Amino acid sequence: MATTNITRNQVTEDMLSKCHRIVDGNGEVFYQVESRTEAGKEYEVRYNRELKAIICNCKASEEGTTCWHKRAAVGHAQAYKAEQKAIAEYEARTARVHRLMEMGLTLEEATEALSHQLLVDGKEADDETLVRVYGPRHRRPSEKEIEQDYRHYQTRPFSLLKK
Ligand SMILES: [Zn+2]
Repeated sequence: MATTNITRNQVTEDMLSKCHRIVDGNGEVFYQVESRTEAGKEYEVRYNRELKAIICNCKASEEGTTCWHKRAAVGHAQAYKAEQKAIAEYEARTARVHRLMEMGLTLEEATEALSHQLLVDGKEADDETLVRVYGPRHRRPSEKEIEQDYRHYQTRPFSLLKK
């Protein structure tokens, strides 16, 4: 029985491709879903606030049968929402990378900082903390680097004064 349910509720790519998301003059979203049996025929799937239900104007739906138009429209709306969320997250992350770079991190450091989800006192670290932790100012030079610096100044003792 479970298998039957899954098959019945399944929304296929083909079904999604028949759905057209439309925003009407009042900013309300509804769907036009192409008929799969009648060329050129489209049904309207809307959310009815008063009834708190999704309504389709096809014959099957009017006769009380749950039609695939509704399922397809709901599936499309869910996919759309997920996509919008992913885009928003990507944009927020990009904006944060830019902010961190303005605060002094390189692109690599900013990307690194955001990939770790550093927690401070159980909360996500703010930008200042990330810059402090991943930024160059507090990066400790290795012994080798210190030695190289030392040699550098040894061989060119007056280089700093020549300017
Ligand atoms: Zn329908």
